[in-house]
Amino acid sequence: MAQQNDAFKHLIAHCKEYGFIYQSSEVYDGLSAVYDYGPYGVELKNNIKDYWWRSMVHMHDNIVGLDAAIFMHPKTWKASGHVDAFNDPLIDNKDSKKRYRADVLIEEYLDKLREKIQKNVKKAAKRFGEKFDEAMFLKTNERVLRYQEEHGRIKQRLADALSDGDMADLRAMIDELEIADPESGSRNWTDVRQFNLMFSTQLGNIAGEEGKLYLRPETAQGIFVNFLNVQKTTRQKLPFGIAQIGKAFRNEIVARQFIFRMREFEQMEMQYFVQPGTEMQWYERWRETRMRWHRALGMPEGRLRFHEHDALAHYANAAVDIEFEFPFGFKELEGIHSRTDFDLGSHQEVSGRKLQYYDPQRQESYVPYVVETSIGCDRMFLALMSTALQEEEVPGQEGKTRTREVLKLHPAIAPIKAAIMPLKRNEERLVNAAQDIFRQLRFSFNCQYDDTGSIGKLYSRQDAIGTPYCITVDFDTLEDETVTIRDRDTLEQERVPIQRLEEIIRRRVDMRGILE
Ligand code: ATP
Repeated sequence: MAQQNDAFKHLIAHCKEYGFIYQSSEVYDGLSAVYDYGPYGVELKNNIKDYWWRSMVHMHDNIVGLDAAIFMHPKTWKASGHVDAFNDPLIDNKDSKKRYRADVLIEEYLDKLREKIQKNVKKAAKRFGEKFDEAMFLKTNERVLRYQEEHGRIKQRLADALSDGDMADLRAMIDELEIADPESGSRNWTDVRQFNLMFSTQLGNIAGEEGKLYLRPETAQGIFVNFLNVQKTTRQKLPFGIAQIGKAFRNEIVARQFIFRMREFEQMEMQYFVQPGTEMQWYERWRETRMRWHRALGMPEGRLRFHEHDALAHYANAAVDIEFEFPFGFKELEGIHSRTDFDLGSHQEVSGRKLQYYDPQRQESYVPYVVETSIGCDRMFLALMSTALQEEEVPGQEGKTRTREVLKLHPAIAPIKAAIMPLKRNEERLVNAAQDIFRQLRFSFNCQYDDTGSIGKLYSRQDAIGTPYCITVDFDTLEDETVTIRDRDTLEQERVPIQRLEEIIRRRVDMRGILE
């Protein structure tokens, strides 16, 4: 765990040092759980969005895009259930004055029980060696059975308390399980109360509830209320989808995991409208499609998994998360939900307007069902950075090895595709030749010209920001129009004609490779 924390701290420091992510308003000591993307961060984030948009919208004949406003009519959030039910159970510690999510404190208790079970398994495996039968051990060991029973019981009670909105029982569980403040160890807790996560603001000069506006907590509702506009203006037939990328805002109670849980973040959501009764088939299809999307970027197999929901939200009849192993454990990266006709039905009821699709084959109108895929762009960014940042031993000078830090991002999403550098920065002819190449290549790729240090230093810097290719211009270039191209991952250096640079770079950085 300590090692993981160190790796996470290192990742956060790297993001800042190399211009990927800064704390918001740092000169004022920052604003909690709000972050700014720096020059390389914005490039990477744009590339993630581009990959998502192209694979979801451009690669599907029946999915179209939308960019709805952040502000929506306040009734939207009444209809969607957010005004009444978008709450987290909050608890304060009276001694430390720290605020927690009551359900998270209980979840952490459950994590500890699981760790205890794992510890027992490991111990037994060591003791019995090759003869060890894990399944049998889990079924028969008394201590493990006790832990499992306790785990099951608490998990069920937590799910019931959350779905019934029973705050008193959450509080009772915290007492009974003797859960203490993780920071101070104090058990002096307040009552648990519901806390609505929506940020609100006031419209113009209209006072009171009338003029109350919300910053959208998800982008999906902009899609639902535009469903008929889009369907009619693009003449789509079911099944079809609407995709959107945009900011969402949540007043998170606990936000201590860098860009994993932010108060302002970006979502990439797609709502797929289908005939009622076919939703399970589409739900299965989209789970697989979305997992493939992640794998195409080279995310390691073992760090992605599905997690089926035990307790379903009021609007869903099936839901699964794609979880990623972040430096602090497996956590939700994307959700795939079968939302039935809940949202469209509700908007239809509250607005009094029909939100139905006329099915020419069945010759009838009905409210379609919806399967949604919803991923946080910032979480995707964090997942990619945490897989890509690596330290490795490479050959150094005089037969020794050295450690290099390299960001092995997939070339198609790397912020800079190629860096062009002269071997000597004081040599005008080399500088001119390198700048000429840079001026040509920038038409095709996001490139960088750099002559601010020795070649070794420049290579290291490009490795740290994930640039797949470095191109060096030397004296031979002036004679034969060839340059050295260095591959970030293999470190191989190849001599190639300037004319072929574009083709060589394109082969690896083209998004086509992952879209296919
Ligand atoms: P969690 O349980 O982690 O709070 P959620 O289930 O509330 O997430 P959804 O409402 O399903 O999340 O939102 C869809 C996606 O939006 C999530 O899978 C996640 O990637 C992203 N997301 C949600 N909340 C945040 C946040 N506070 N900061 C960054 N990304 C977020």
